[in-house]
Amino acid sequence: MEEKQNLFGLDVAALQERLVPLGVQKFRAKQVAQWMYEKGARSFGAMTNLSKALREELAASFEIATPAAQDVLVSKDGKTEKFLLAFADGTAVESVLMRQPYGNSICISTQAGCAMGCAFCASTLHGRARDLTAAEMLGEVFFIEERLRGEGQHVDTMVLMGSGEPLMNYENVVAFLHLVHDPAILGMSYRSITLSTSGIVPNIYRLADEGLPVSLSISLHAPEDALRSELMPINKKYPMADVIAAGKMYGDKTKRRVTYEYILIDGRNDSSRHADELAKLLRGQLASVNLIPINPVVERHLLRPPQERIDAFERRLAKRGIAVTVRREMGTDINAACGQLRNRHLETQA
Ligand code: SF4
Repeated sequence: MEEKQNLFGLDVAALQERLVPLGVQKFRAKQVAQWMYEKGARSFGAMTNLSKALREELAASFEIATPAAQDVLVSKDGKTEKFLLAFADGTAVESVLMRQPYGNSICISTQAGCAMGCAFCASTLHGRARDLTAAEMLGEVFFIEERLRGEGQHVDTMVLMGSGEPLMNYENVVAFLHLVHDPAILGMSYRSITLSTSGIVPNIYRLADEGLPVSLSISLHAPEDALRSELMPINKKYPMADVIAAGKMYGDKTKRRVTYEYILIDGRNDSSRHADELAKLLRGQLASVNLIPINPVVERHLLRPPQERIDAFERRLAKRGIAVTVRREMGTDINAACGQLRNRHLETQA
């Protein structure tokens, strides 16, 4: 039997390309899009403004496939929900909803697993399984959006910060950004979206040329090459000076403030010298630093610094004119750090 084509993740123009050759009138594509994206229809049978014959014809050739939840964890305070979402081939990724004071923020995965090998990250322990398609990423967003719609709410902001390096899945990620921004799909403003990268320099330049004003977040985690290479092997390919030059260019070109993520690790990168070097590197850039006290990885001796050191690091940066925040911890009781739920799933399957 021929495999049915999935219509979920197609915009109106792409739906027309599929449907018009079958003799379906052009305006029907818009109706199908409305059913899929506005009304949450996951079968053609639900599309009651299409004739019964057309609904049956569509169901014979197409499907509307979105991911299904394999596991859901809710933090004790109810503010963070983490979903393990599985696609048709059984590949599963994590997506997170954080109910923040400023709105509903979601964190989306762009690859199943990750090949980048960052020392502090659970997503990379099993390597990269595969890239996600634009439709699959959109499926993650809609899974959460539709839960929120049931409560009269919606997704307000999105970070591409789950498993995977978005800029190593460049074409799919850019296609996904177009889809999520499309008013006929979700209409999310680019300014509500943050893409987080470990520093894939050529693709930062490419992204700046796309004309999509998404915010960029760069994982720095160390103010010197030797230490950064230990924590993030990608630094050997794209050294820190090149990453920071690319970040500066991105800020200058898009006029969006670039955020540098800096995981604070006890005794590794949290001294006053590190703070001074970091401040020196970023001086004069349209940039801010987000300090993230590490979720401890005890087996690797990566521990959280004492609170006084975290506070001192923050103060030292601020004193040197750097805009700095410390990430509020959410959902630590459900291991909201990326990759941990998926790893548990892979290990129980092994
Ligand atoms: S931190 Fe990001 S880039 Fe690094 S291994 Fe984890 S998912 Fe990949």
